[in-house]
Amino acid sequence: MIPEELLATYVGIPGKYEPSGTCVAWTESRDDYCAKPVDHLLCRRHRMVGLKRHDADREKKAAQQARYSQQRARQLPKWRQRLDQVNKRIAVLDPPPLTTDRAAWGGEIHRSILRSRPAMSDARVEEMARLHRERDNLIARIGRADA
Ligand SMILES: [Zn+2]
Repeated sequence: MIPEELLATYVGIPGKYEPSGTCVAWTESRDDYCAKPVDHLLCRRHRMVGLKRHDADREKKAAQQARYSQQRARQLPKWRQRLDQVNKRIAVLDPPPLTTDRAAWGGEIHRSILRSRPAMSDARVEEMARLHRERDNLIARIGRADA
């Protein structure tokens, strides 16, 4: 049973649902409240009108949700593929250290080693920032689609 307060939102004027002994539905043709005597908020006719609009609204929302889910399901493999590409590109630009042993990379680094390391140019830094943003975005989208 759908409460008349909810049905009244489909036939009444927003916020004007105080029980007053008369129907709160707004009648466009008369430019006035229905005002038939009622037990609560709506007369029988306007309860039915409210119910029809409520059901139509729910069907419309369900159809929208189904379309949205289908679109996401279609996009999901593309997102996963793109995430894979982004991760590979990040690994190329910023390779993970070969070891996590601090002794291996802590302390002084010989100049010849420093010279051999590719410099993080502005363009690379910018690309890395963009890739990380895209990766976060993809992970969030894939996560929601999996849910
Ligand atoms: Zn009415």
